[in-house]
Amino acid sequence: MSGVGKGVAASSIGAIFKARGFEVTMIKIDPYINVDAGTMNPTEHGEVFVLEDGDETDQDMGNYERFLNISLTRTNYMTTGRVYQEVIRKERNLEYKGKNVEVVPDIPFEVIRRIEQASDKANADITIIEIGGTIGEYQNMLFLEAARMMKSKSHDDVAFVMVSYLPTPSKIGEMKTKPTQYASRTLNSAGIQTDVIIARASTPLDQKRKDKIAMFCNIRPEGVVSAPDVESIYDIPLNFEKDNLSTVLANVLKIDLKDKPSNFGPWQAFVKKSKSVKTEVNIAVVGKYFSSGEFILSDVYISVLEALKYSAYKLNHKIKLHYIGSKIFEQDPKKLKDLKKYDGVLVPGGFGSTGIEGIIATIKYARENKIPYFGLCYGMQLLVIEYARSVLKLKDANTAEIDKNSKNLVIDIMPDQKKKIAEGNYGGTMRLGAYEAVLKRGTVAYSAYGKDAVIERHRHRYEVNPDYIQKLTDAGLVFSGKSPDGKLMEIAELPKSKHPFFLGTQFHPEFLARPLAPHPLFTAFIKAAINSKK
Ligand code: GLN
Repeated sequence: MSGVGKGVAASSIGAIFKARGFEVTMIKIDPYINVDAGTMNPTEHGEVFVLEDGDETDQDMGNYERFLNISLTRTNYMTTGRVYQEVIRKERNLEYKGKNVEVVPDIPFEVIRRIEQASDKANADITIIEIGGTIGEYQNMLFLEAARMMKSKSHDDVAFVMVSYLPTPSKIGEMKTKPTQYASRTLNSAGIQTDVIIARASTPLDQKRKDKIAMFCNIRPEGVVSAPDVESIYDIPLNFEKDNLSTVLANVLKIDLKDKPSNFGPWQAFVKKSKSVKTEVNIAVVGKYFSSGEFILSDVYISVLEALKYSAYKLNHKIKLHYIGSKIFEQDPKKLKDLKKYDGVLVPGGFGSTGIEGIIATIKYARENKIPYFGLCYGMQLLVIEYARSVLKLKDANTAEIDKNSKNLVIDIMPDQKKKIAEGNYGGTMRLGAYEAVLKRGTVAYSAYGKDAVIERHRHRYEVNPDYIQKLTDAGLVFSGKSPDGKLMEIAELPKSKHPFFLGTQFHPEFLARPLAPHPLFTAFIKAAINSKK
């Protein structure tokens, strides 16, 4: 079922097998027609996670990468749209050699081909495939059919795990197993018998319910894994392992775990640290996607929030986040003074003109009042605009994204992007994925990374306009990271002598932050925030 933590459950199973010494890869199947997640509204769908090869995917891909500390590629992500697109392309290309091309079996065959390709590419011992959506809905039927076909072809190589939610109706006060029984039957009618049921609920499952589920869903009692609500998602792999999930799955898959010593040490240390830190560091996240309530909000910026946590833990602190919709600063500029309460301000990526003047006012306030500031993508472009307006005195400095008629477009569109937009060609056409940035020695960025060049992930259409680079540099802004040909500005900052931390990146460092490997720029930002604690 959607929204009950299937992504985290899948990631946790991956993390367990990885800790037990297996080569693991992960695949997400999203049952919608969109070819990628790039064109979806983040307030509806959550964050768009960008892979190294530039694929714009679902946020679950971020969980996979973080839990397993691996990098995935576009082969690991599939949508209904993507599968159909490929089948139709092959048909047009005569690759079906005159055959009738049919929804069944040709769509499931293409799904299986993709799964096998991803698995081969990663040289994986174990491939975990998460099928999105809910059992019983029309949308994911062809993916379940692919799963059934795989099982019937290689019985011992496929295990099924169903994540099910057990509600406790408040009036009754008793946990209900019926919806799970019903879901399992629905899965049976698709020809699939699940091997494991992960029972999501607000509280742990008692033995009586475990037995009941085992009996009515045709599985062994040890195949029912209790997954109560937890304080931190990072507890889940350890909780699953306490329930011997890897052994249960290894039995289904006829894998011998005997020679596989488990190495949960680093993960346990991370979880322990995350629970023992007490001192808070207060970070304000100022952005525009705040209108749909707290729940969606944290989904929109999930990679940023997680990246902040990892770096804070590393520095023995815990993050206290404050979400601020930038529009309030447009309505009431006096409120900017409230920013003084925070140890650091972060502006994440974004698009369009909503709330932008409020963000620029925020950046100005942070610069003038020496509050550590970290700008990601749009947050870097707006830093440059603010600097041009305040220091270069170019009052109408702007980005072409907002005001094409400004005489001072310090952020402008890349020439190849102009053509794409004129053609209405929006999907998957930004500057996407991993590109190199060469760092300037003696800068804040250089001292954070401690190396001359880095590779980071991108997702943007606009750039710092080359016509203004010299002027901005002369006015004291340091471009401490540039593309190897020197043309594209990747990092802008103020030197430490002028500000405790004032830095923006054209790329998205949050996509590379991992629990076991916090991102150096986030760590440098949090360090500055801790040092400036009120
Ligand atoms: N809207 C800006 C651009 O397209 C920034 C994008 C972002 O923050 N991801 O360049």
